[in-house]
Amino acid sequence: MNPELLELCETAASLYHRGYAFGSTGNLSLRRGNQIWITPTGRSLRNLSPGDLACLSLDGQPLNSARPSKEFPFHLGCYRAQPTANALVHLHATHSVALSCLAGLNPLDPLPAVTPYYLMRVAPLGLVGYFTPGSPELASAVEHAAAHHSCLLLRNHGLISLGASLDEAVDRAEELEETARLFFLLRNENTRLLSPADRAALAAAFPHR
Ligand code: ZN
Repeated sequence: MNPELLELCETAASLYHRGYAFGSTGNLSLRRGNQIWITPTGRSLRNLSPGDLACLSLDGQPLNSARPSKEFPFHLGCYRAQPTANALVHLHATHSVALSCLAGLNPLDPLPAVTPYYLMRVAPLGLVGYFTPGSPELASAVEHAAAHHSCLLLRNHGLISLGASLDEAVDRAEELEETARLFFLLRNENTRLLSPADRAALAAAFPHR
């Protein structure tokens, strides 16, 4: 059994069991060479095995009989947009979805930086407008944004994170969701954001974050 595909299934189950995914929402993929391995359509992330995963070519041709997530076009678009990305996590995590539904978000900075970890793992967060799930319009907008961002907030929908590895993509997704949760916890509090000096010191300490 391919250990990377097993890891993908175990990671999907972990996200489900820790409440980052629910029902049959969410999808994950890996790029390995010229192939994309992606979670199947209509299935919960909680109990997948490697034999359930769909395999596609980079141009979307099916390479096995499993039916891929209906969001496979934006997975392919992200891999086209970011040649160094090898993993994608897409979740309807509750606080990220709540954030994505707020009117008046700043498209250049949708989420205030309250911790250094958000700046190191998520920022700059991209904001993608609302499009019908599974549509070519959504895939096109996501591909365009992924050229400049490794984390995306999809309006009235959820989050996407990309990583050179599955661990990196998952870390980014969890950091984004937890920062969105902090945003709502702090929304009515007198909050100290990271200052420009804090940001400069962080950039100096971690120049290759
Ligand atoms: Zn979705």
